[in-house]
Amino acid sequence: MAELRFFFGTMGSGKSTQALQIHHNLRSRGLECLLISQLDRQTGQVSSRLGVSAEATILDPTVDVFRLLGQAHLRGEGLHAVVADEAQFYAPHQIDQLARVVDEYDIDVYAFGLLTTFQGELFEGTKRLLELADVRSELQVEARCWCGKRATHNARLVNGRQVYDGEITVVGDTASNGSGHEAVVSYDLVCRRHWMADKEAVDQFALFDADDGAIDLR
Ligand SMILES: [Zn+2]
Repeated sequence: MAELRFFFGTMGSGKSTQALQIHHNLRSRGLECLLISQLDRQTGQVSSRLGVSAEATILDPTVDVFRLLGQAHLRGEGLHAVVADEAQFYAPHQIDQLARVVDEYDIDVYAFGLLTTFQGELFEGTKRLLELADVRSELQVEARCWCGKRATHNARLVNGRQVYDGEITVVGDTASNGSGHEAVVSYDLVCRRHWMADKEAVDQFALFDADDGAIDLR
């Protein structure tokens, strides 16, 4: 019986590497397996930080995944499995469609994605996957915060300082900060304590600002 399996982890936890490995293993056994992804920087493929890559179908949130995979299934040899990378970027209704692919076509779906945004909240696609998946597992690759603790959160840095507001999907390197100047956007893996450390300062600042009072940031 087919299942919807969701594997989640932080950035750098090897999600794409695992996705490519499963895809490779099934294909090498002669099983028809489709690799799909969203918003990848390199069009038409999934690539891992370790330098492996494979051809993929890149979707956007408007694609009817049930229809697309149904068509692929009904052609030729049929589809045995689907490996979905960047699953956090799928629209919630696309996760429902993936669940229908499992139930109605008996096709295994392996989804890989991030758990939380840089703001520390569940991605919409991730939330729906946690609600619907038959199996949920966390990828453990012992990513570490600079303090040595296990890294559980993705921090977004703009010009080297952590931020908690902004677009959810700024993927890389440079972006306009609204004032016409280019800002350097990067990401860092940190433990919860150090992810929250700057947030307290930001919240406290906002609170004192509203009260028009004195600021005491210890
Ligand atoms: Zn830490």
